[in-house]
Amino acid sequence: MDSVIETIRACREKGTPVVGCFPLYPPLELLHAMGLRPVVLWELKGIVKSTPLSDRHLQPFACSVARHLVEIVLSDYGAILDGLLMYNACDTLRNLPEIIERGLGAQGRELPIIKLHIPAIPAERTEASEYLARRMDALVAECEAAFGVHFSSERFLESQRRYGEMRALLRRLEALVGEGRLLYRAFSRINRFGYLVGVEEQVKRLRTAVDDCAAVSINASATIPIVVSGILPPPPAMIDLIERCGLRVVANDVATQRRSYGYQPPEDGDPGGYYADFYRRHHPCTTLLPTADRRVDTILSLVEESGARGLVFIGEKFCEYESLEFPHIEGLLRERGVSSLRLEMAIDDYENCAAFATRIEAFAELLKGGR
Ligand code: SF4
Repeated sequence: MDSVIETIRACREKGTPVVGCFPLYPPLELLHAMGLRPVVLWELKGIVKSTPLSDRHLQPFACSVARHLVEIVLSDYGAILDGLLMYNACDTLRNLPEIIERGLGAQGRELPIIKLHIPAIPAERTEASEYLARRMDALVAECEAAFGVHFSSERFLESQRRYGEMRALLRRLEALVGEGRLLYRAFSRINRFGYLVGVEEQVKRLRTAVDDCAAVSINASATIPIVVSGILPPPPAMIDLIERCGLRVVANDVATQRRSYGYQPPEDGDPGGYYADFYRRHHPCTTLLPTADRRVDTILSLVEESGARGLVFIGEKFCEYESLEFPHIEGLLRERGVSSLRLEMAIDDYENCAAFATRIEAFAELLKGGR
């Protein structure tokens, strides 16, 4: 982590303002095109070891995502940020800008906080796209005023190509994991650092990873294909348990993974048009309300097309969005002969996953018995 922070700090010292973004699907290409360095403040478990600063402002029954996010902004790490950008998602995140403002104020600090509102109505309603186009124009103007940067369509198109390549490489790498050429643990680590290192650095890492593992020979028949789903991926210790039990992650429906890189819009020099398509056809996520109705069909297709025999759902404690949906999905999978395992992760379940070992082993045995 410290080396990543040093990279971000070095980039800032060269005059590139660093903008912390949440939740997971901010307009990265647009910020990048305006000469900003977007850093997505997500998947911080394992980086943020405790939450004393956040605990002064957030209830202990808020999810770990929100608590870690507030902690990192209020901690010394937050000093590398020149501003924040957030868009609307769940109720927990909705009030964070004001909470962060108060927390920073108590420390005698302040940061520009730019808020983007994404329409939470079906995208087919014509006013949704028009509204979003107006919001994107306002966002450009706010960034220009806050950070002294400028927008150009040419640079925006160039940024779309870079992020498009990054997402295509991640899809390719996920397929190589499915073939058994790379462990899901290694894939998750590479993907995670993409939120912190710049897109250029991430593309370099991904090209190397794809080249390295394309040549690896495999014996995938010895493992049982499964899909993993959740807001956060399983922590490394849990992935080790899953892979040691002979389970192979052939596809994922994880918010920081496939839900983030699953769809790339066609090029468009106009931010309104580009992001109307980006949010409308995004891989469905419970945090993007207009896409949520497509989730069940998407997960069922993902399981069927990948040939998975089971699905492991990693629930985030206190996240009702996913937990309320999963029993329905679980029932539909059962009708199709696909087993599922639901695990719930609390804020302190990161390194010590031993408590889950028995359930994961039993699940693996169940799937092996059904061969
Ligand atoms: S984990 Fe759930 S409750 Fe927490 S920020 Fe994400 S969507 Fe909101």
